[in-house]
Amino acid sequence: MLTDTAPGASRAIVIGAGLGGLASAMRLGAKGYAVTVLDRLDGPGGRGSAITEAGHRFDLGPTIVTVPQVFRELWAACGRDFDAEVDLRPLDPFYEIRWPDGARFAARQDTDAMRAEVARLSPTDVAGFERFLVDSERRYRFGFEDLGRRPMNRLKDLIAVLPTFARLRADRSVQAHAARRFRDPRLQMAFSFHPLFIGGDPFRVTSMYILVSHLEKAFGVHYAIGGVAAIAEAMVRVIRDQGGEVIYGAEADEIAIQGRRATGVRLTDGRALPADIVVSNADAGHTYDRLLRNHRRRRWTGPRLRRTRWSMSLFVWYFGTRGTAGMWPDVGHHTIVNGPRYGGLVRDIFRRGVLAEDMSLYLHRPSVTDPTVAPDGGDTFYALSPVPHLGHARAVDWQAEAEPYREKVAKVLEKTLPGFQAHLSASRVFTPETFRDRYLSPHGAGFSIEPRILQSAWFRPHNVSEEAEGLYLTGAGTHPGAGLPGVISSAEVLEQLVPPPARPLAPPLKVAAE
Ligand SMILES: Cc1cc2nc3c(=O)[nH]c(=O)nc-3n(C[C@H](O)[C@H](O)[C@H](O)COP(=O)(O)OP(=O)(O)OC[C@H]3O[C@@H](n4cnc5c(N)ncnc54)[C@H](O)[C@@H]3O)c2cc1C
Repeated sequence: MLTDTAPGASRAIVIGAGLGGLASAMRLGAKGYAVTVLDRLDGPGGRGSAITEAGHRFDLGPTIVTVPQVFRELWAACGRDFDAEVDLRPLDPFYEIRWPDGARFAARQDTDAMRAEVARLSPTDVAGFERFLVDSERRYRFGFEDLGRRPMNRLKDLIAVLPTFARLRADRSVQAHAARRFRDPRLQMAFSFHPLFIGGDPFRVTSMYILVSHLEKAFGVHYAIGGVAAIAEAMVRVIRDQGGEVIYGAEADEIAIQGRRATGVRLTDGRALPADIVVSNADAGHTYDRLLRNHRRRRWTGPRLRRTRWSMSLFVWYFGTRGTAGMWPDVGHHTIVNGPRYGGLVRDIFRRGVLAEDMSLYLHRPSVTDPTVAPDGGDTFYALSPVPHLGHARAVDWQAEAEPYREKVAKVLEKTLPGFQAHLSASRVFTPETFRDRYLSPHGAGFSIEPRILQSAWFRPHNVSEEAEGLYLTGAGTHPGAGLPGVISSAEVLEQLVPPPARPLAPPLKVAAE
């Protein structure tokens, strides 16, 4: 909006073209706002963006698409058809988990196949598995369909749900719940590790998150051809078709406030952009600590943000191989390679804040599903190791540690991908410092504020800001939280809180109820 493209219309500025920012822009566009999305990067998607190196396309972050209906509903709210614009493919198996003793577990949608997998590892745990499925579905109905899709910015919203929290034993952790249903420690891990994908410590995060097992069973695990970046690009097309604009290389330095009201955004290059409402998809910590640094804050003050617990960070090695067609046929799209420890490793990462000698890896191999990610005969991978964020007392010096750590990752991977290092054709690492500097993520956290029970729902920074009128938050640091379904839902919540535009760009879309 360097020249106002829609003079006179009510303008919404969205800071950040992450998936939550883009989804919010789409919903505000459908509501009739003239929308401007700003991002400091050179393309859309934020953590869900991609880079190409030596012919390999690397999806930098999210790879697992669950609950595809959140995308379908978002597109429908804009009068569009998601499936006509994004090619989503179901995966079977969803992923494979491996342990150092040679055991493997393939997660699948089919309940009989899952029962057989459980029985293969531990026949006495089949009954517990059946109960776990029922537990998971109950928490899905409440935690996702109800709580996760409506505003939680009033204390009474929280008080109303406390009895259900108590009944469902939300005070218990995911791991503690899994341990009540499974005796085999490998199955305890297989049914409790999911919070790590949204930055939660399985030994601390509320057992409400066991709902993920139901999400996977009911709606599958999917991959978007072209990666999540292809979804982000499709979102940008919708926004532009609505008359909105998406501007890259534009970094917000400050949210302008007059009185108590947000009135626009000042960029780092000095330009000032006026707006009727401002939506921040930048990390909630960055939004309050940096973008509102000159505004007196009541709730999200510096001391409070320093007391906040942040999710873990990540070390990610993106690498490509050439001449590897047909190699490692047992390595599918998603593999979890466990190290020797689970609880101890999680404790080192989240509580002790030390970089452990051992590691557990998530290995992404999209080339088995999507030929567009690698040159002919090649493969594209990433290996992700959860590591402490930079805010711990003994922060790791990643300038010194990145290469030795990459070599350790490679050594672990040799067991899964024997001989792969002789075929390397591309290599890039992201450390917690990259997360801090690229996404302006406090302490380089991978998933913003840790999803503990006292940092969830009403306790999280609200979608409608507590600090300024006309300011809204979307994305991983606000309600309901990180992960693609979470940030897309945050836009749905935001849409319920933003008033209709006083001067609409276009009449709001009326979408027929399905
Ligand atoms: C390695 C990795 C793997 C993951 N895997 C999965 C997965 O498989 N499935 C899943 O569902 N989720 C996964 N996640 C989580 C998921 O990717 C994130 O929770 C989600 O993408 C975050 O979206 P967001 O809208 O909060 O914004 P972000 O992606 O964090 O984007 C925020 C944007 O704001 C921009 N920005 C920040 N400050 C400013 C400023 N001052 N001015 C302008 N722009 C600014 C940034 O450049 C960025 O583009 C993964 C995350 C990571 C890191």
